[in-house]
Formats: sequence, C-alpha cells, structure tokens
Amino acid sequence: MMSPVEFFRNLPKKVCPECGEGVHEQAESYLMECDRCLSKKEE
Ligand SMILES: [Zn+2]
Repeated sequence: MMSPVEFFRNLPKKVCPECGEGVHEQAESYLMECDRCLSKKEE
C-alpha cells in the first residue's frame, strides 16, 4: 500500500491536451497547453 505522501508525489503531471506533452507547473496554472502550443496560438 502506498502512503499518502507517496501517492501525492506520484500524481501524474499535467499534460497538454493539444499534443500530450507534459506541462510544467507554473504560476499561470490556468494555462493548460504547453509552451509550444501556446506560442502557436499567439500568432
Ligand atoms: Zn502542447
């Protein structure tokens, strides 16, 4: 059995819904897409 601490440590990373890349946790966590997809949209 996993301890609660281990459980939270092993939570899956946020993943970009556009390309499936892992998204870094950031202050602007409302941004779901990764940097690449975001910059694509900002053209
Ligand atoms: Zn992406």
